[in-house]
Amino acid sequence: MPRTLVTGGAGFLGSHLCEYLLEKGHEVVCMDNLITGSKDNISGIKSEKFKFVKHNVSEHINLDGELDYILHFASPASPIDYLELPIQTLKVGALGTHNALGLAKAKNAVFFLASTSEVYGDPLVHPQPEEYWGNVNPIGPRGVYDEAKRFAEAITMAYHRTHGINTKIVRIFNTYGPRMRVNDGRAIPNFLKQALTGKDLTVYGEGSQTRSFCYVSDLIEGIYRLLTSEQNEPVNIGNPNEMTIKEMADKILQATNSKSKIVCVPLPEDDPKVRRPDITRAKKYLNWGPEVGLDEGLQSTLKYFKEQLQT
Ligand code: UDP
Repeated sequence: MPRTLVTGGAGFLGSHLCEYLLEKGHEVVCMDNLITGSKDNISGIKSEKFKFVKHNVSEHINLDGELDYILHFASPASPIDYLELPIQTLKVGALGTHNALGLAKAKNAVFFLASTSEVYGDPLVHPQPEEYWGNVNPIGPRGVYDEAKRFAEAITMAYHRTHGINTKIVRIFNTYGPRMRVNDGRAIPNFLKQALTGKDLTVYGEGSQTRSFCYVSDLIEGIYRLLTSEQNEPVNIGNPNEMTIKEMADKILQATNSKSKIVCVPLPEDDPKVRRPDITRAKKYLNWGPEVGLDEGLQSTLKYFKEQLQT
């Protein structure tokens, strides 16, 4: 039975990943400092093969026993979080990734980095293939996340090339689903919360910027395929179904049957104007593509948000 460490395991993606790995027969150690993650996300996991360790991975990681895989998912990931936690965001992308790689080297484990479409910044190439180097403002408000993840990719490749560690890098595009926090601040959770509580939906700018939203179960499947593949180059995982943010706000009004209105508020600095993954590589090497449609994905996310807002 493989033994696996998931950093950030109590977060939105981390908790889904822990569950999936347990289903696949892994013994899972979930590590999280709970600054944006929550124990509620893992409270449903009853397996004896699951262990939670509260630790900030930007500090040295001590873990007894053998490890076969390390999946490094710890990081604030919502723009409002990394604006509020800029130094922690930089530290976990840099020091946290270094510590997790050091542990992978010591344990001879496969290392898997959760990177992001933010490495492409406000892209000048559309859609974004993995070969594109990006257009990032290093000193802007999003720079703390974008540059931390770019450094994380660089040090991951350095450990691969220098120490021969078997490393994987996934570039995660916008993902949604149950266990996103009601106050997460990203577009879908904000719109759902606003629609369900009778507040105006806050579209930033004119809402003409685009994103492409992937349902969480599709993303986790792609991650597992990459983890068990031979690929060491970065791979985009996301749903190429691109839409404007205004279209998403309309969609959520429709799905919730809400009478809320849409209001336009100022666009945050450096907000990418377009984003859509080129998933040719994921299709070719992992035989992966998204399967859950937007209506279906929004319904299960809506159900979760209704439950959260009732308690
Ligand atoms: N957005 C919006 N209203 C909100 C939250 C977000 O219009 O209440 C926009 C945001 O400006 C961006 C897009 O929705 O253009 C996606 O934002 P999100 O925070 O979900 O993630 P990003 O893709 O920017 O990292």
